[in-house]
Amino acid sequence: MKHLKRLFDIDPWKLTTTQLHSDDMRLQESLTSTGNGYMGMRGNFEEGFGGDHHQGTYIAGVWYPDKTRVGWWKNGYPEYFGKVINAINFIAMDLYINDKKIDLATTSISDFYQELDMKHGILSRTFTADIDGLKVTFNFERFLSLVTKELAVINLKATVLEGSGTLKVVSKLDNNVQNEDSNYDEMFWEERNTGVSPEGHSFVTAQTIPNNFNIEQFTITAEMSHSTNVAATPAKETGFLSATETFVYDVAAGNEIDLTKHVIIVTSRDIAENEQLQTADQLMLDATALSFAELKTLHASVWEKRWELADVMIDGDDEAQQGIRFNLFQLFSTYYGEDERLNIGPKGFTGEKYGGATYWDTEAYAVPLYLALADPKVTRNLLKYRHNQLPEAHHNARQQGLKGALYPMVTFTGVECHNEWEITFEEIHRNGAIAYAVYNYTNYTGDRDYLENEGLQVLTEIARFWADRVHYSKRNKKYMIHGVTGPNEYENNVNNNWYTNLIATWVLKYTLESYRSFDNVSSVAISEEETAKWEDIIANMYYPTDEELGVFVQHDTFLDKDLMPVTDLTAKDVPLNQNWSWDHILRSCFIKQADVLQGIYFFNNEFTMEEKRRNFDFYEPMTVHESSLSPCIHSILAAELGMEDKAIEMYQRTARLDLDNYNNDTEDGLHITSMTGSWLAIVQGFAQMKTFNETLSFSPFLPKQWNKYAFHINYRGRLLYIVVAEDVSITLLSGEPLDVTIYNEVHKVTDTINVALNK
Ligand code: BGC
Repeated sequence: MKHLKRLFDIDPWKLTTTQLHSDDMRLQESLTSTGNGYMGMRGNFEEGFGGDHHQGTYIAGVWYPDKTRVGWWKNGYPEYFGKVINAINFIAMDLYINDKKIDLATTSISDFYQELDMKHGILSRTFTADIDGLKVTFNFERFLSLVTKELAVINLKATVLEGSGTLKVVSKLDNNVQNEDSNYDEMFWEERNTGVSPEGHSFVTAQTIPNNFNIEQFTITAEMSHSTNVAATPAKETGFLSATETFVYDVAAGNEIDLTKHVIIVTSRDIAENEQLQTADQLMLDATALSFAELKTLHASVWEKRWELADVMIDGDDEAQQGIRFNLFQLFSTYYGEDERLNIGPKGFTGEKYGGATYWDTEAYAVPLYLALADPKVTRNLLKYRHNQLPEAHHNARQQGLKGALYPMVTFTGVECHNEWEITFEEIHRNGAIAYAVYNYTNYTGDRDYLENEGLQVLTEIARFWADRVHYSKRNKKYMIHGVTGPNEYENNVNNNWYTNLIATWVLKYTLESYRSFDNVSSVAISEEETAKWEDIIANMYYPTDEELGVFVQHDTFLDKDLMPVTDLTAKDVPLNQNWSWDHILRSCFIKQADVLQGIYFFNNEFTMEEKRRNFDFYEPMTVHESSLSPCIHSILAAELGMEDKAIEMYQRTARLDLDNYNNDTEDGLHITSMTGSWLAIVQGFAQMKTFNETLSFSPFLPKQWNKYAFHINYRGRLLYIVVAEDVSITLLSGEPLDVTIYNEVHKVTDTINVALNK
């Protein structure tokens, strides 16, 4: 399948373009998003844009419970759909030449250039406008600081090439913004205060509107301050939810105006409203003590440090290289594990779809990457996030009349807030992924402390849910799980989804095993009666299988569908979700994302190569990969099965999903949680890194087109550097010597070892 659209040039460390894609501005904005974990924004233009586009700034954890439009009148239905809300536009700097507003949608310009420097986390843009003979080159550079999370810095350089006249810059804080996806077209902000702070900075204080769901209202204060190379006193004004500072310069050819805008954003998540102005003033004082160049260097050096550990170097394929760096850049811009109250939304700070909340994506797709690329405490924070939400997970289970804990499909607080029944009630496999992450952390780090305490509490409650959710079929003398949606969301209300039955039973097994592995556990008590019931379920769970085909069957009636490969579809059909009615999709055999194969990926060591091959050969041809989470799982399994071309095709699809707009939906925002996919495909796929049974192993192959690839991983207190080229080399950069299995042979790594590449 061909990619749909590529807006930016290929470069290993940058996105660059000399094209202003006015007709694809939403896509261009999504791709040039930036963030620092605390806040983030789409690549909107400072001077605004009059054409179709999406202005979007988001602040982590600042959200609103938007009353759902459907189903809230039925028992057990979520009452609201939580969303991270579009917040204050603080980059705004309107430009005027001789009082004529510059708008790239209508003003004719030349020499457009835009660049996202991923190595240093800086977005810049240049263009030249000529109005009434006054010709000026504008250059914007901006970043959201990794040093001071509340700080954003924007630098404008205006170089006058020809003519003379006036140049006006209207710098704004504009909280008069709305969500595009608001259910009742409501504005989620109300004004608290605007004006000038004790230190003389224009500010806006806004608060989220009240709600009927007992969810806290958030208050934010934004403050701005400018420094400029030409003495200028701005006119300061305030309006509804906004503040402006206007700079007017009389200019002539040869002049250069240099104007830096500093913005500080503080929120009631950290600072009470009555202290926000004072805190913002102090932060502003510290920030403005340094020049733009100094702030930029400090910020860039933090990105460089992140790259030292995280970078995956690919020699011989710049498209692939750009893809993985883009993904890591956007993932870390969203979440770097600094704040344990936060999680990783599927669109991060780049759009509104999916509400910006927490999904199973975190445990299933992000945890493996953070385990290898960050301090173990980052994953522990992600696990703690779920532990903290146990009471709400209990509440979700009670809502369905069930015991134990049901973790939500979509949430901010732990309470389910998705509003489609087939997902909310039925996509319960997610509960297994939460448990799997506890296993993953324990198995990867060797730290059993979490398991013994919080981990076992989470596992036990999830196990109790499953033990109640299964039913016993007297006719078949088997336990079954009916009425579910598997990971494949292109079918609902199916019975005995193989993956769901597998992960439910695994949770019961792993919980019992873990419980018994400690003497005198005090964190939980599992009764003998419960144990007996769980063991009975483990022994007698029903798994749909087909002996003749030799496959695990996705669910009870899957094989009765009109089965056909994706190659029977035409270009008019795909993506299915944009061309077919939902009813048509649900009746078809086409699979949105890895489902049976997701189970084979998670429990890879429990299946034979023959089982893996048969299932892959059966399901892959019917999979449309219309969830961005899908191709990486297929890439990893294809690599294991020696299907190099398939592994590479799937890698490209995951690595360049947004850069090439494969699913024709990147204009809504980036697929942040699937950004881990390209890393998973290289590390767990091409290099076949596995960590089952306390053993670190690799079985790498080198894609034909590539000369080399290299990456670092943290593993049990060691830092390892792995290079796959003419041979496989593993270097222990820090920590104790370690046994590593390479192509099934154990090697003690004390320094560097080299093993011939298995061709
Ligand atoms: C996928 C889900 C995923 C969600 C958020 C959906 O399209 O089918 O598995 O959790 O997106 O990424």
